[in-house]
Amino acid sequence: MFFLFFFISQPVIGQASQIALFWQDKPLESLGPQIKQGNIYIPIKVMENAGASIYINDSEVLINYQSEDHLFSLESNGDLLEKFGNEYYLSAEAFSSRFNLDIQWNSAEKTIFISEKGLKRTVLGLDFNDSQDRAILTILHQGTAEYEVTKLEPGKLKVDLFKTTLEKPLGILLIDHPLLYSVRAEQLSRDQVTFYIQGKEGLEFESRLVGDDLVLEFFYTVERFEYRSIGGLPLLFYESKTGLPEYREYLEGDLTLVREFTGVKLMGKAIKENIDDDLIDYFEYYQEGPRVYSLIKLKPKLADFFASSVQGKRLAQLSKITSRQNDLGTELIFDVIGSPYYKTKKEGKRLIIDFEDVQVNNMVRDITYSSEYNGLTVTKLTGDSIRVEILLKDCSGYALSKKDEYTYSVQLVKRDLSSKLIILDPGHGGYDPGTVGAFLEEKDLNLDVALRLRDLLVDFGYKAILTRETDLYISLSERTNLSLSSGADLFVSIHTNGSLNQLANGIETFYAPRNSEGKELAEYIQRALLVQTKALDRTAKEANFWVLVNNVPCSVLVEIGFVTNAPEEERLSQSHYRQKVADGICSGIIGFLN
Ligand SMILES: [Zn+2]
Repeated sequence: MFFLFFFISQPVIGQASQIALFWQDKPLESLGPQIKQGNIYIPIKVMENAGASIYINDSEVLINYQSEDHLFSLESNGDLLEKFGNEYYLSAEAFSSRFNLDIQWNSAEKTIFISEKGLKRTVLGLDFNDSQDRAILTILHQGTAEYEVTKLEPGKLKVDLFKTTLEKPLGILLIDHPLLYSVRAEQLSRDQVTFYIQGKEGLEFESRLVGDDLVLEFFYTVERFEYRSIGGLPLLFYESKTGLPEYREYLEGDLTLVREFTGVKLMGKAIKENIDDDLIDYFEYYQEGPRVYSLIKLKPKLADFFASSVQGKRLAQLSKITSRQNDLGTELIFDVIGSPYYKTKKEGKRLIIDFEDVQVNNMVRDITYSSEYNGLTVTKLTGDSIRVEILLKDCSGYALSKKDEYTYSVQLVKRDLSSKLIILDPGHGGYDPGTVGAFLEEKDLNLDVALRLRDLLVDFGYKAILTRETDLYISLSERTNLSLSSGADLFVSIHTNGSLNQLANGIETFYAPRNSEGKELAEYIQRALLVQTKALDRTAKEANFWVLVNNVPCSVLVEIGFVTNAPEEERLSQSHYRQKVADGICSGIIGFLN
């Protein structure tokens, strides 16, 4: 047990040689404290370990010690000091007060720990954000973080933070992101915290301090691109250990076909290669900021073909805004040709959506104000960005989602919903298949069950919103933002399991640690699912899933079975079995709500 040392309750005379002295956890072997009349004296030489300058002249001593941005000085003609042998000593009390040091005496272990008081560095928590097509993990820190990042093996790294502690245990955070799987935090010693990060083999990262926090940005990687003409079409293939995320494709001018990959690092050299066959002049690829661009310069005869088949120009077009009333309130629908980047924020009564790289020409506006909103403006910002501003009236929240490639929906949720609002979150989607079985992909099963579940819930009079309704990649941040901003009562994430052990099978439901509401909902769902499916009970249990801990209180994640288990994959392939799964989750939710 540690306590602040000033007075020693028991005389320790004669035990001096047995007391071990530590500076910031480092044992100082040659320097032993001395005991005199029940007081402990510490050699001033210790201060050399803190980078202090020490001048000794006859019996006069001057110590200058810089801690953070504070200079401590001690000047003594001997009255404060004790001399044992040839060494000068200072009482522990004087040491602590003069240099603002924390001195802890452990009576059981006979140790004295000296540490810099001003530091009080601590790891406050973790933040994860992947809303802008980039996976960013932030280690929130009080006091400037001192750190070192080490690659352990492909996809695994460790981050050591020095002179700091964990404010609270963080355990393992499960992220289930296509690039980043989990983060585990450990207090490695008294003043060192280590994070172990596990992700996809081939991932790259960059680290930097932002204020006191340590920001780690993760990248997909691509080694190189290769051109081939197949069936009269110019195609670029790529070699990548991580696979590549969704990209934007557009024509720059009439003849340059561009693909823009965000959150990707080019591992090889940037290349421009002349081809001059009957399809293209050249192709090239290069890195610019967090993005990799690949370009093909087409021959004129292909211009028409690509003008009609490519998603759009670099600048997307906002072509239409319509509104409609529904059970939830008002839904605003934005037709956008192309795939722009977008951000939302709410400032008081104003809901702001900023679209990047978007043009507005001859936009059709077919909206009617309602009790949820009474204003909508579209303004051009600098560059090619536009801002949509929605003036909210009487509205309990909003849910921005992408219905399909071309349709963005902003659901304004009315104030007095007659029933609970449930967010259904089919995991993965788009380029992220989730767990892959012999013939099924997790993303498809999750979506199928979520759609069935929505129909059931609506039939029972509940309101439900899906985080995705088609095969689209939706970031984890967008998923949790949707339930947090909409004022949802429940969040149910639907996933399918996988394991290297092909025998592993069954159903499990997770809730965030120490969350009693989530626990109860998870137990209801788990029980009802077993009744419906007769699957193996892997129980309702705690897990630190990112989508659960940063969400509305009543959040669960259901793993409906293992696609890596042959009999279970076979069952999951049958629509009547998936209906049973949906029935089970539905009756669990209803049981919980009643
Ligand atoms: Zn999953």
